[in-house]
Order: sequence, then C-alpha cells, then structure tokens
Amino acid sequence: MLPFTRVTVIGLGLIGSSICRAVRAHLPTVRITGHDASAEVRDIARRIDLCDDVTDTPGASVIDADLVILCVPVGRMGEVAEAIADDLPKGAIISDVGSSKGSVAKALEAALSGHIIIPAHPVAGTENSGPEAGFATLFHNRWCIVTPLPDNREADVEKLCDFWTKLGANVEKMTPTHHDLVLAVTSHLPHLIAYTIVGTASDLEQVTQSEVIKYSAGGFRDFTRIAASDPTMWRDVFLSNKEAVLEMLQRFSEDLAAMQRAIRWDDGDALFEHFTRTRAIRRSIVEQGQDDSRPDFGRSHL
Ligand code: NAP
Repeated sequence: MLPFTRVTVIGLGLIGSSICRAVRAHLPTVRITGHDASAEVRDIARRIDLCDDVTDTPGASVIDADLVILCVPVGRMGEVAEAIADDLPKGAIISDVGSSKGSVAKALEAALSGHIIIPAHPVAGTENSGPEAGFATLFHNRWCIVTPLPDNREADVEKLCDFWTKLGANVEKMTPTHHDLVLAVTSHLPHLIAYTIVGTASDLEQVTQSEVIKYSAGGFRDFTRIAASDPTMWRDVFLSNKEAVLEMLQRFSEDLAAMQRAIRWDDGDALFEHFTRTRAIRRSIVEQGQDDSRPDFGRSHL
C-alpha cells in the first residue's frame, strides 16, 4: 500500500530533486508537485520533467498534498513553513531533510502549530548542488534518520518511515537532540576540519598553491571533496547546531593536543595504537556497505 499519494517537495536542489526522481522510480503512481524560490530552478525542473507540476508559489504547491517535504537550507525552513501555513491541509504530514534537527523542529512548530510535523534527515549527499545534481539512487542503502516529536502519532511516523524505506533508505528513529549530537561528530565536525585544512593550505606562504594542488594525492585532495560542499548549506548547519558542534570541537581539540604531545615526545607506541584503532573504523564502514571497498575510493589508476 502507498504511504502517500500526493507528495510536495519545496526546494528542488540536490536533495529535493533526488526525492522527486526516487519517487518517480519507486512510487510511479504518486503525484509529485514541486516548488523552488528560484525562477531559474523552476524552469530547469520543468524542462527536465522533474515533477508532475511545478508551482510558482509555495502555497499553491501544498494545497492538496498529503506529504510535504521541505528541502531548503536549514536557515530558510521557518520562512517556508510560514509561507505555506495558510494553504497546508490539516491532515497533511510536514517533514524536511535538514542536516540539523533541533532548530528545524522549533522553527516548524512555531510556524505550523496544529499541523503534523515529523522532522527527518536522509544521511546521503554529494558535494554538488542544484536540480541537475540529483539522482534517483541517492538514498539506496543510506540511513534516513526520522526524529519524531512528542505529540506525533505512531501511525503517522510509520507512514513517513515507510515512505523513506520505499525510496531505498534504511530508517532509524531518534530524538532531534540525539540526532544533532551524532551528526555533529559524524558530519559537521569532519566538514569543519576539511574547510579549515583546505583554507590553511591555501593561506600558506612557504608552500605555493600550485604545489598544494600538484601534490594533493598525498591526502589533501580527499579533504577538498568535503570542503567543496555548498557554502549556504554549511553556514546554516553550523549556526543551527552550535552547541553540539562546539562540544565535539572541544573534544577534538583535546585529542589533537594528545597527538601533538605524542609526536613531540617521540611516543611511537601511542601513535601506532591510535592509527590501528582508526583503521578498524574504516574497515567497519566498508563492511557495512557505507563506502566503496576498492582501494583509494575506487579511483582509476590507468
Ligand atoms: P541545494 O542543492 O542548494 O538546494 C536547495 C534549493 O532550495 C535551492 O534550489 C534553493 O534556491 C532553494 N531555496 C532556498 N530558499 C528557498 C525558499 N525560501 N523557498 C523555496 N526554495 C528555496 O541544497 P541541498 O544540498 O539539496 O540541501 C537542501 C537541504 O538538504 C538542506 O537543509 C541540507 O541541510 C539538507 N541536506 C543536504 C545534504 C547534502 O549533502 N547536500 C544531505 C542531507 C541533507 P537558491 O539556489 O535560489 O537559493
């Protein structure tokens, strides 16, 4: 049975357009309506036939929806929720895909009181943005974290979980607060480190930028993929998950200081023991199908 029959996606970038494509691929009888604030994005969406209908206003896109998914940057969720409040049917489920959950839940509750709000976050993405960057298989075998709110009915939560399962995702439920802590260490901190290290390398004076680029295969280039992620999205993520990010950053700084001390005092055993532990984590990620098992991320060495 279909969990929903009329799905609206607001924000037709990487994630929104991937949802549209995945719905077309896995739930072909579901009617999908889209809206984006950018006229250029709406034109592209119409040209590539992303949805059954693309509306020029957010309100028009939700009028007969039974599921509405907000796929805009985290800092824009509140204003989009306000813009659809008058047209959103009472029985519709409103969800989102934002990378932080506590602040989004608050923003949606403030704008849409009395509506069914179930925040969620598909932990899947690439460093690209926009409607042409999406693809139907983005969520296959990736986790979607659903973060129910205290007043949600179990049946509604299960419908949303069923929707994501049908798009190929594995679903896990947790509170918004726990989500923000977990993602601070698995996603937000790694992005902060990548943004920092790439910035540090480009600011160096003794090593030229052309040398940094030329010898990047030594490790640097793997950070540049993450550091190429969308600036608007990531500005909003750090500002909206401030507390958890700062807590993880504090832990990271302490661990970094320990590594610094081990190098200074020639403590090879400490370094070796640490690197052995981290290597095991990489192996577990590959074993659980969360990354390519081929060496060097499967890059061609022809
Ligand atoms: P994206 O490719 O930049 O797409 C976002 C789209 O939303 C853009 O077309 C943008 O238009 C539009 N938009 C902005 N403000 C809007 C508004 N007020 N009303 C309607 N449309 C609006 O970004 P994305 O990567 O898909 O990210 C979308 C959400 O998914 C974010 O909340 C992010 O945290 C979350 N997420 C991202 C990833 C990832 O890896 N990228 C993974 C999981 C979750 P303009 O370009 O004109 O601003």
